[in-house]
Amino acid sequence: MVSKQIASRGITDLNVLEAMSKVQRHLFVSEALMDQAYGDFPLPIGEQQTISQPYIVAEMTQALQLREEDRVLEIGTGSGYQAAIIAEIVFRVYTIERIRSLFIKTRKLFDELHYHNIVTKYSDGTSGWKDESPFDAIIVTAGAPEIPETLVSQLAVGGRMVIPVGTQYSQELIKLTRDENDVHKTALGGCRFVKLIGEYGWRNQ
Ligand code: SAM
Repeated sequence: MVSKQIASRGITDLNVLEAMSKVQRHLFVSEALMDQAYGDFPLPIGEQQTISQPYIVAEMTQALQLREEDRVLEIGTGSGYQAAIIAEIVFRVYTIERIRSLFIKTRKLFDELHYHNIVTKYSDGTSGWKDESPFDAIIVTAGAPEIPETLVSQLAVGGRMVIPVGTQYSQELIKLTRDENDVHKTALGGCRFVKLIGEYGWRNQ
């Protein structure tokens, strides 16, 4: 998976390639889908949600420019795969999920896999995690109608954020970087995610 779908498509960050070689994607999907776990596509994880395609996980993780000492916020825990990839690279990951059954199942999986540096929360992630902010990096793994200011305000100076922004059918992956005075945005390309639902996301299911 890593050489054919990820390194060959321009992912060069060694930390990302190493993490993706190490984390076994089949552990994050149901038993019935395990034989498809290394394919280049998203898979259902229940509750009408998905585990993202491996390449998009790699692209978003690389865009975060992670360093070992970083504290990272993820919105949309889902299967836990993206959080596990980040947890292989950085000091601590904070991840928020709004669907209770996914939150419970994935928390259990993190414990079974000994991911002691992943902190989980059952909540609406569009409000971020103010008590633990600021974060060196923020990743949103669901599509937003616009960039929630609540999240931008929880980004440290020098921090990086990636978020899919657009309609409910297609989005543009946006990278934000924050410096002393400003927030800079770059478009990384098209993508398709499930909806970010919450107070500062889509209001409807
Ligand atoms: N990072 C996940 C993974 O590796 O499996 C991707 C999961 S899926 C593409 C997006 C997830 O975002 C879903 O589990 C969904 O319930 C969650 N989500 C949507 N809106 C949310 C919100 N406001 N707060 C927290 N989670 C949210």
